[in-house]
Amino acid sequence: MRHVVIAGGGLTGLTVAFRLRQLQPDLAVTVLEPQPHPGGNIGTEDHGGFRVERGPNGFLDRTPAVPDLVRDLGLTPRLVAASEGSRKNRYLFLGGKLRKLPGGPLGLLTTRLLSLRGKWAMLTEPWRKSAAAAEDESVADFVTRRAGKEAADVFADALVTGIHAGDPARLSVAAAFPRLPVMEREAGSVVRGFMRAAKQRRRDAEVRGEPPPGPQRMWSFREGLRVLVDGLAAALGPAVECGVAVRSVAAHGPHWRVTTDRGVRGADAVVLACPAREQAEVLADLDPALAEDVGGIAYNRVAVVALGYRAADCPVAPDGFGYIAPQNTRRDVLGVQWCSAIFPDRAPPGCVLWRALCGGANRPDVFDWDDDTLGRAVHAEVRLAMGVRGEPVFRRVVRWPRAIPQYHVGHLARVARVEAKEAGHPGLFLTGNAYRGVAMGDCVEQGGAVAARVAAHIAV
Ligand SMILES: Cc1cc2nc3c(=O)[nH]c(=O)nc-3n(C[C@H](O)[C@H](O)[C@H](O)COP(=O)(O)OP(=O)(O)OC[C@H]3O[C@@H](n4cnc5c(N)ncnc54)[C@H](O)[C@@H]3O)c2cc1C
Repeated sequence: MRHVVIAGGGLTGLTVAFRLRQLQPDLAVTVLEPQPHPGGNIGTEDHGGFRVERGPNGFLDRTPAVPDLVRDLGLTPRLVAASEGSRKNRYLFLGGKLRKLPGGPLGLLTTRLLSLRGKWAMLTEPWRKSAAAAEDESVADFVTRRAGKEAADVFADALVTGIHAGDPARLSVAAAFPRLPVMEREAGSVVRGFMRAAKQRRRDAEVRGEPPPGPQRMWSFREGLRVLVDGLAAALGPAVECGVAVRSVAAHGPHWRVTTDRGVRGADAVVLACPAREQAEVLADLDPALAEDVGGIAYNRVAVVALGYRAADCPVAPDGFGYIAPQNTRRDVLGVQWCSAIFPDRAPPGCVLWRALCGGANRPDVFDWDDDTLGRAVHAEVRLAMGVRGEPVFRRVVRWPRAIPQYHVGHLARVARVEAKEAGHPGLFLTGNAYRGVAMGDCVEQGGAVAARVAAHIAV
């Protein structure tokens, strides 16, 4: 029986294994995961009615990747959509106040987040002829070129803070937001590109005889995102081995030797789906140049600080997703998600649960604060932003020393070098959120694509 070893039991590695099993049911698959539980960044904790997501809070249905996986696991009936308010009401914390982010062109006209000049620059984006940069460009440079500096300072910063907790001046737009430069190239404008894409989605739905698609939504499960990784692990059964770390890999003809901290495994193909630093360690002897490129992918540090309050102590019951404090304001908190206003069952009756993200590219110092200092800092920020009166009744801090890979300018060239070197090692596959997208949907898409490539390799 042919055997595939997958290093890393996060969402990507589990998806590779699950899809591979579907493609080749007679294949032996082993997922090796050093932690006691699979899931990687994804995990939900229950503390006396406070349901805390350790990592991601939900996934978007922009592509069908995660919804399809959920369906194939038989978990669709357990999904819950984010509240309507959380889709519409998102805020920035600027100048000591929460300010609503505009939801569309009309909102842009009336928002106080931009000056008249800033609004004009944004609203005239479809007609701007700005030469596309030949080289890779940062998110800040791209947005400034297309829609003006104010749009970059306010909206691009908020977008990058919300998704990557990164620095818009360093992140590559082509790597972090690949659709934007494509829209500019193909439609001559980002706004026109979005309009064309929406029209195409409506046409596609019509052809399929489906109702017109609504706006993208965020989803989770009533019991939290752990349902997804637990479902994958349950479907894979004993194929997932926890408490085992992969240390190195070596090729022997068409076969592979996988050295772990618990002995050596033979394999016909090896998939590395662990974080980039660990992939680099595993590859160090096999291909030092490849290891150097992989190991050069930067990560930021993020502390998740969940606080519970009595609803009676919150003068305003938030109806929305939460707020972002743009990183250029250098506040102690990057943003706050109003978890119990987004999904049901996140807090006991009479209480609310909010989750702050701290650290990131611009305030790495905050990550090193002890739990009490962090808790006090977040409490001070939410008092300011939301007028909370009482002390928190619950606190949980989760630290991610390597939280989210940062796709700095030059990332796609690095990925191309990695892929070229990977091709020189038939039977070795590198994947995970370090390469082509950090969102859960990206990880599931990449996992499915890698499973297809592994199946094709094994079939030869
Ligand atoms: C705080 C936070 C909030 C986020 N919020 C969102 C969100 O709201 N929505 C969204 O879509 N995405 C979000 N993300 C991103 C998303 O969660 C991740 O990109 C995704 O879960 C990564 O999955 P992965 O399997 O590629 O990597 P990981 O989850 O990092 O999994 C890699 C696995 O490899 C294991 N491993 C390490 N070393 C070895 C070794 N030597 N051998 C074998 N295995 C090893 C690790 O233990 C881990 O389990 C968030 C991430 C973080 C950290």
